[in-house]
Amino acid sequence: MTQKHVPFSAIEAARDQIAPHVLRTPLVPAFPLSDACGAEVRLKLETLQATGAFKLRGATNAIMTLSKEDRAKGVVTCSTGNHGRGVAYAANLLGVRAVICMSELVPKVKIDGIKRFGGEVRICGKSQDEAEVEALRLMKEEGLVYLSPFDHPDVIAGQGTIGLELIEDWPELDMVIVPLSGGGLMAGIAKAVKTLKPDTRIIGVTMERGPAMYDSIRAGHPVEVVETPTLADSLGGGIGLENDYTFAMCRDLVDETLLVSEAEIAAGMRALYRDQQIVAEGGGSVGVAALLADKIQAKGKRIAVVISGRNVDMDIFTRIAGGEDVDLATVQPDGGA
Ligand SMILES: *Cc1c(COP(=O)(O)O)cnc(C)c1O
Repeated sequence: MTQKHVPFSAIEAARDQIAPHVLRTPLVPAFPLSDACGAEVRLKLETLQATGAFKLRGATNAIMTLSKEDRAKGVVTCSTGNHGRGVAYAANLLGVRAVICMSELVPKVKIDGIKRFGGEVRICGKSQDEAEVEALRLMKEEGLVYLSPFDHPDVIAGQGTIGLELIEDWPELDMVIVPLSGGGLMAGIAKAVKTLKPDTRIIGVTMERGPAMYDSIRAGHPVEVVETPTLADSLGGGIGLENDYTFAMCRDLVDETLLVSEAEIAAGMRALYRDQQIVAEGGGSVGVAALLADKIQAKGKRIAVVISGRNVDMDIFTRIAGGEDVDLATVQPDGGA
């Protein structure tokens, strides 16, 4: 555990590097939401990225930063969700081999989602842990480069480009609200925003069910959490007990972290769809959820909310949009960051 910060200069370098391959997403006004909280709210739509989530930024930057030798060997990861998609897509685009390890239990839609973007799927064992063992074996024995979904300087720098765009598009903003899991997204954005505009308030939002970074910041060191099925499945998982970057950066740069319930997440998804026809996954909706639940002192403020992704099961989404507070703890578990 080295507890280092990624420097601002790395984020600026990442922006130039990834610009040809990653969408510079729009920051759009959210009128009904602004009225609801007596503030001026705008939404940063990372849902528009080719893979449906911001993780493409970090994956693209990490792969482009590899040495020629490492590029020739290829990359490996064991995420079945937005990171896996981002790595598969970016690697394919850049002509680099990407192996995504996953267990036999991963649903076919997720496997197809990764294959569609050009990833080489390797099915190994009956649990995510066994998939991880295989990923580490490929790293040690075949020399592939292991890409962490969040605790990696090039990944953090890539996600931080969102912060540069926010300040460029809205220099007057007072507050930025960011979904929080492993903290790569938050660490990058917070570094960029606090460097360019130090008085901006930075708020991290995560779900009540297994909030790893929230608990770790309060404990003063990385702690493990119990994972429970949640609508914000992309926010699941731990931060790593040997965390090198994201814990220290979130601890030092974030002003406030808070939790939202499953019903609040559902309400956030519903409002985004009803008011702006935006389809966002649970993890992408937690910022709106926190505002609607009146958990943030928003009155009179200029607030940017990061809508981080849109990869949601359509059956679950339509039920939520139709008014149902779906509780995944009572349905079948199907998580994965
Ligand atoms: C990964 C992810 C997050 C959280 O990002 P971290 O860097 O792990 O904090 C938020 N939203 C979506 C949609 C994600 O895929």
